[in-house]
Amino acid sequence: MDLRLPSPLERLDDERLGGIEVFLKRDDLIHPDFPGNKWRKLKYNLRAAREQNHTTLLTFGGAYSNHLRATAAAGHHFGFATIGIVRGEQHTPLNPILARATALGMTLAYVDRATYREKTEETLRERYGDFYLIPEGGANAYALEGCAEIPAEIDRGFDVLCCSSGTGATLAGVATALGPHQRAIGFSALKGDFLAADVRRLQSACGRTSENWSVDNRFHFGGFAKRDATLTAFVDDFEARHGIALDPVYEGKMMYAILTGRLFPAGTTVVALL
Ligand SMILES: *Cc1c(COP(=O)(O)O)cnc(C)c1O
Repeated sequence: MDLRLPSPLERLDDERLGGIEVFLKRDDLIHPDFPGNKWRKLKYNLRAAREQNHTTLLTFGGAYSNHLRATAAAGHHFGFATIGIVRGEQHTPLNPILARATALGMTLAYVDRATYREKTEETLRERYGDFYLIPEGGANAYALEGCAEIPAEIDRGFDVLCCSSGTGATLAGVATALGPHQRAIGFSALKGDFLAADVRRLQSACGRTSENWSVDNRFHFGGFAKRDATLTAFVDDFEARHGIALDPVYEGKMMYAILTGRLFPAGTTVVALL
């Protein structure tokens, strides 16, 4: 399997920059089955699963979870069986993400929302036997370790590292590895005010707390996977200008914030993690 690492760093040339410099860190190009940060978050989980002699990976996600598909791909490429616990009811035909996960060998099990919330490891072990458990979104200490490798790949100076956030694991991880005058901002793809607490919890869990990050909850466009005509037009226009199809769930919201939000003083160098 070919992973494009280090992922490319590209300067963005756009008339809306307003005096800031923006570079795109193209983690979306690492591998088609591991878009965005999905490889970063799985890397050390796979090593741990192997070292602990597990043969099966089990994880969780919604029906459109790229993390489920990435875990299926990891199992396929690295020789683990995979089980995906999907929130909600089964719909046929399967959507492209679940269809791909199935094609990569993942066994899917659907649970209603209440059961999903209560999913306990014990019940799952009774049902599925031994497995290595990866939390929803891959968000654990191993994920932070993988994401902490991103800043060192950026071979030029920068002030701010921006990422789009779901669980906050990527933000938590990159923040542990920045230089003394750098900071990270996570743009939440979800509506609500819980991301900062989640990031703090994730950092504490691996004993690497830092104060060099913040979250911006203003650009969720109505909530997870929600969008409006403004975001759709922004993403379409971005593709026409730059030939890059931003995913509207995460990347589109972050780039909208960076290019229209007037968030940084002129002269700031920003790296946006795709
Ligand atoms: C999965 C994904 C995220 C969410 O990352 P977290 O570590 O859960 O915050 C953000 N951006 C992109 C492009 C993703 O694919």
